[in-house]
Amino acid sequence: MVQSSVLGFPRMGVLRDLKKANEAYWADKISQEALLEEGKRLRLAHWKIQKDAGVDIIPSNDFAHYDHVLDHIQFFNAVPERYTKQKLSPLDEYFAMGRGHQKGGVDVPALEMVKWFDSNYHYVKPTLQDNQTFSLAENPKPVREFLEAKEAGIITRPVLVGPVSFLALGKADRGSSVNPISLLDKLVPVYVELLKALKAAGAETVQIDEPTLVFDLAPEVKAAFKPAYEAFAAAGDAIPSLVVATYFGDIVHNFDVLPAFSAAKGIHVDLVRNPEQLEPVIKQLGPSQILSAGVVDGRNIWKNDFAKSLDLLQTAIKALGEDRVIVATSSSLLHTPHTLASEKKLPTDVYEWFSFASEKVKEVAILAKAVTNPEAVRAELDANAAAIKARAESTRTNDPKVKERQAAVTPEQHNRKSGFDTRYAQQKKHLSLPLFPTTTIGSFPQTSEIRVQRNKFTKGEISAEEYDSFIKKEIDLAVSIQDELDLDVYVHGEPERNDMVQYFGERLNGYVFTTHAWVQSYGSRCVRPPIIVGDISRPAPMTVKESKYAASISKKPMKGMLTGPVTCLRWSFPRVDVHQSVQCQQLALALRDEVVDLEANGIYVIQVDEPALREGLPLRKGSERDAYLEWAVNSFKLATAGVEDSTQIHSHFCYSEFQDFFHAIAALDADVLSIENSKSDAKLLKVFIDEAYPRHIGPGVYDIHSPRVPAEEEFKQRIEEMLEFLRPEQLWINPDCGLKTRKWDEVKGALTHMVNAAKYFREKY
Ligand code: GLN
Ligand code: ZN
Repeated sequence: MVQSSVLGFPRMGVLRDLKKANEAYWADKISQEALLEEGKRLRLAHWKIQKDAGVDIIPSNDFAHYDHVLDHIQFFNAVPERYTKQKLSPLDEYFAMGRGHQKGGVDVPALEMVKWFDSNYHYVKPTLQDNQTFSLAENPKPVREFLEAKEAGIITRPVLVGPVSFLALGKADRGSSVNPISLLDKLVPVYVELLKALKAAGAETVQIDEPTLVFDLAPEVKAAFKPAYEAFAAAGDAIPSLVVATYFGDIVHNFDVLPAFSAAKGIHVDLVRNPEQLEPVIKQLGPSQILSAGVVDGRNIWKNDFAKSLDLLQTAIKALGEDRVIVATSSSLLHTPHTLASEKKLPTDVYEWFSFASEKVKEVAILAKAVTNPEAVRAELDANAAAIKARAESTRTNDPKVKERQAAVTPEQHNRKSGFDTRYAQQKKHLSLPLFPTTTIGSFPQTSEIRVQRNKFTKGEISAEEYDSFIKKEIDLAVSIQDELDLDVYVHGEPERNDMVQYFGERLNGYVFTTHAWVQSYGSRCVRPPIIVGDISRPAPMTVKESKYAASISKKPMKGMLTGPVTCLRWSFPRVDVHQSVQCQQLALALRDEVVDLEANGIYVIQVDEPALREGLPLRKGSERDAYLEWAVNSFKLATAGVEDSTQIHSHFCYSEFQDFFHAIAALDADVLSIENSKSDAKLLKVFIDEAYPRHIGPGVYDIHSPRVPAEEEFKQRIEEMLEFLRPEQLWINPDCGLKTRKWDEVKGALTHMVNAAKYFREKY
């Protein structure tokens, strides 16, 4: 019999219950017991969903109150001393590492948090010391939760992050120089101890995640698998058998590592992302090893195409036999929303196209039956085939006009009329900008008043006219404050925007929106990405009204503000029936029309934000990455190149690690780039000299994530440092990012100092 398995389930619950409980606890509104009780309720509910769906192998220890890597930091006692010495309760210590702790005389910042592979989930980085030790916490979480499920009558397969990935995803703490992977010898015995405890509790198998196997690995990391897994093999029957799981990429380039897992029961691979690795992986398996075939997408919301999955599964079964194949989700379902059943507002035809976590677990179970006995699940298979067909043929999906327009795109459409020098000469005249021009990144404080009015409008409690006049008043306010501050290039403040992607999605054809499809981004933060269901086009201008009004009341140039095609794509659930490059080009064409319309309406500075450009970068070097960069850059250029030389194109990025990415950013040919820089070393800007970057740059001069108002002196010092690496006529003065999360008095205070500092240098040069 073929078994079904799930690699992990979302933690938040139907109505983001975990978010609510965590935040209530942080605000001292519920007790620690109440929070832990809620965690337990959610775990049991999620196990039951999977059991009721007929899943054979159900995970435990996939739940986390904040982050699962952070859980490992704590149960391996790898907590930095700045936290342990506070003598907080284990739960408070855990949250202190996740989000910082500023209470009762304790003041510690959070550990660093970064994106989990190429997903929008963030994990807490193991932060290691020169004299790092590890030991197993008392009553460790994986054992506790295994027993909890067992008590409820469910034998689970605990999930652990494997030792090599745990270390490779970590870093040396500030002031330490330890190479994380060198700590393997100290860590592995603690894993063995934990595995023994799991076995003693009754766990037969453990899922051990080594997702770093999809990366290009440094030789020392690669070499670490062998000793680690040999130590596990040496423990023999004293530990559960292991299924080594990889996801978000293929492992073919790391096949030389596989002998390290020869004692493992099986290997899990992601066949959604890389179906072509199936046959090579089959050949690599040991004579009795099983293949866990990840065919149900853990990263997207589309209904599984059963026919396609069954093909892959049949191939595996033909080679390995029924007992050696497990039908699985491609990765944890953490990256998908809880249940489609909550969506009451989706168009009925479209509803049939989707499958969220609670539906995906059923798909896994159905596929496992279908692969040996299709007649047993005939009705489900037929319904699936009908839904897949309906989507493929839907007019919602296919718009011939969009395809025609794409077919007619020419190479010239990607390039501005002239080179930067010619453009800049015209822009300078046209915009009459001073040296060290000051500007902001787009949004101003999203006050509770703005949210209240938007809510009223969405609910129909106020009319469109009333809402419009409210937005106008907000723009008036933003403009008058910029007059007072004496900034050089204004923004309208984005009061009308709920979210930088959803706002555009709602104005484009080809998108649908959910009401409850939240996905965890980090800790208690969730996002609700819009879904691209069909060919994208722009039925009408999206931002012209607000920008035009703002320009009409300002004495300085008003900057139009758009979200770029790559960011719109990345922060949505994309289609899987056409390549992402096709969707991105459609977005680019829609935005191109918007850019040209803005210009025609008197907006001569236009910023097209691409904060997600970098996260889309394929995980490995090579042809896939090169191809991505080519279509991503081309999409941006197609969106922005339709304007006259005298119109200035800006772009914005919220990250400072652009060294290895520099050529892509340079290739965008934006007249002005604003980038996050205030928290990093100004030395990072050296790349602009080294590469003789000709255009203009605004490295953020202060951190907008903090309420702190830096003194004028701090701004001056920062600008001074930047001038070591940038030519004065090249430098713009702006914050790190948009100001929507700040309060007006913080914004006014910081920008006053920023403008004064810019004026000081203007005098000086
Ligand atoms: N223009 C956007 C804003 O200021 C940019 C946001 C971002 O970079 N993430 O809010
Ligand atoms: Zn930003």
